[in-house]
Amino acid sequence: MSCIFCQIISGEIPGEILHQDDEVIAFRDINPRAPIHILIVPRKHLAALSDLTEEELPILGKMAGIAKKLAEGEGISERGYRIVVNCGPEGGQLVPHLHMHLLGGRQLSDEMG
Ligand code: AMP
Repeated sequence: MSCIFCQIISGEIPGEILHQDDEVIAFRDINPRAPIHILIVPRKHLAALSDLTEEELPILGKMAGIAKKLAEGEGISERGYRIVVNCGPEGGQLVPHLHMHLLGGRQLSDEMG
């Protein structure tokens, strides 16, 4: 199994896990781009947003709900935060396993790309 996120999900390699349920886990990004940088990841290996079927789309709502709760837990709800889903090469997706970034804890750039 070569997917790095599948390896974290299976426990083969460590991750600082902040949430897990039957469908989704969340752990801190190893190379944080903000004081709070958490990845929200479906357990199922779904490669990218562009690959999701209609039936798979609801996972995004679940991931967003977990991001919201994690932001509350990290104490950044009031200040604000950003969630990002990179998709494909030009979208900057490096790990080919669907994930949502939760970024916060500082004023984020207004650049969107
Ligand atoms: P993306 O560019 O959207 O594919 O983001 C992939 C993210 O995964 C990057 O922010 C990396 O820093 C992060 N990452 C890569 N390997 C690990 C790891 N072993 N543990 C936690 N985060 C990782």
